[in-house]
Amino acid sequence: MSDAGKTRCAWAKGELMEAYHDSEWGVQTLDEQKLYELFLLEAFQAGLSWYIILKKRENFRKAFDGFDVHKIAGYGEDKIAELLGDAGIIRSRGKIEGAINNARCFLDIQKEFGSFAAYLYHFTDGKPVVNLTDEMKTTTALSDTMSLDMKKRGMKYMGSVTLYSYLQAIGVVNDHDTTCFCHPSALD
Ligand SMILES: [Zn+2]
Repeated sequence: MSDAGKTRCAWAKGELMEAYHDSEWGVQTLDEQKLYELFLLEAFQAGLSWYIILKKRENFRKAFDGFDVHKIAGYGEDKIAELLGDAGIIRSRGKIEGAINNARCFLDIQKEFGSFAAYLYHFTDGKPVVNLTDEMKTTTALSDTMSLDMKKRGMKYMGSVTLYSYLQAIGVVNDHDTTCFCHPSALD
């Protein structure tokens, strides 16, 4: 099937980004495993392009035990050394230690709220936020509030910009361009 006639968000260029845009980005997910996978990946993205992370995604999956949050929460110095030697991922000690720290915070939140999804959506009255304009934002009042709350809970590498990118990815915020075939108004 040819997708040539489809209008996408302007950033979705190239095969990998198009596939991600079409099948994942902005699609609301309540799956805890998926919520965690993207949470980890977004934190590694900070300061880099999402394309780099997508290209390395399967390397990350292998290196981080299939994004098993319980396993990651228990990583020690040996595993950190192994990860620092893995050229397939982003070899930043800060981000690797951040991921381990965040896995522990993620589990604490799951325990407190019943699920990470419940935690995320208690900020938005239980429903996704649809952006009805084409204004490209990098943060919003919502991401500021949530980022601050996560910081208080001990999360690292989850500043408002990174968090907003995460909210877009998992569909808490739907930020497709209004002309994009994935925008909710195009699906009516
Ligand atoms: Zn789009």
